[in-house]
Amino acid sequence: SVSGAQVVRALAAEDRQISALAEAAGRLRWAYVRDADTRATWAPVVQNVAQVGLAMVLVVGAWLVAHHHLQVGALITFTFWIGMVQAPFQMLGMLFVMSQRASVSAERVAELLDSPKDADPPEAIELVRSRCSVAFEAVSFAYPASAKWVLDGFDLAVEPGEAVAIVGKSGAGKTTVGRLLVRFYQPQEGRILLDGLDLRSLSGRSLRESVGFVGDDAYIFSASLFDNLAFARPEADRAEVFAAAAACGVDEFAQRLPQGYETLLGEQGLSLSGGQRQRVALARALLADPPVLFLDDATSALDAETERAVLLHALGSLTGRRTLLIVASKLSTALLASRVVMVHDGRVVADGKHDKLLVSCPLYKDLAQHRVAPTAGQGQI
Ligand code: ADP
Repeated sequence: SVSGAQVVRALAAEDRQISALAEAAGRLRWAYVRDADTRATWAPVVQNVAQVGLAMVLVVGAWLVAHHHLQVGALITFTFWIGMVQAPFQMLGMLFVMSQRASVSAERVAELLDSPKDADPPEAIELVRSRCSVAFEAVSFAYPASAKWVLDGFDLAVEPGEAVAIVGKSGAGKTTVGRLLVRFYQPQEGRILLDGLDLRSLSGRSLRESVGFVGDDAYIFSASLFDNLAFARPEADRAEVFAAAAACGVDEFAQRLPQGYETLLGEQGLSLSGGQRQRVALARALLADPPVLFLDDATSALDAETERAVLLHALGSLTGRRTLLIVASKLSTALLASRVVMVHDGRVVADGKHDKLLVSCPLYKDLAQHRVAPTAGQGQI
């Protein structure tokens, strides 16, 4: 709720949030009161049991001494030993309580440690950076703890240097395709190939160098604009950073910032508009120069002209044409790519040129009619 404070205020939900917090705090308070109550009841009992035991030993011992069954020295030694034995037993009791608390905490730590990590396979292959083809072969995938297949027999082959737009209704599984491509998750069935190699066999490092992913909510670090751009490749020289910035339209607004590229952004600095953040994220991804780039609605806040320029730049890389997969919610974005793939219910239902799909696929026609028409005269990238 704290990080969503603006949404809370915009929806006038402060009172609801405050009462939810007050309720949770109340539950916590009563849990502590119950805890204190239980202690207050049982702690004296536990402590006094030992004292009662000692009293009984003394009474019985005195009787035995009086009747000459036991010597005084033996009784004193016995009570002394009881005192020695008691302390460790009390410690054991405390240890038991502590272990109960620790086991609850340990469960939480174990939960974190058990979360799946992207470990390298035993004989991980290092992919040599090159032009990359991408292929999804009968990929089926469901998110952990969900029974629903998000991708269900998903097939897609993309040639090196090709730009493919992925369209479909919200929830069709477009973003999931990107998450699988960067191995945030692994498919339960089928396989994903990068340059003909199974994604599972690649080392994490070479995978991340080969595939870039830019989402729709660009993250800005609490650092200068320059450091935000150079984040993907800190060793890049300044000229390269400025070139990427210029290609993505960062330069335009950077000049107007109080300290230019050295302006501090993020939590302690200036906040950027949605479109500006997207430009920074795109420039950052281009600077990393991966052979495959997955743009998940990453140009949605850009105007048509900048969008086209950015995508054109994204296609051309130092090593030749980059392979681009562009999730597009705007029809104009989809039309910039030479090939459009439509995803529906986790599988590809149409694949080809926009004009052909309009005729051959009623689902695509339906989707296209509900999206903004492309600006006239806009060429493909
Ligand atoms: P799209 O990008 O086409 O809008 P997504 O790939 O984001 O679709 O989501 C596809 C489906 O997967 C949706 O039904 C969504 O609710 C579900 N989904 C997305 N992310 C998760 C997640 N982390 N855990 C469980 N289900 C998810």
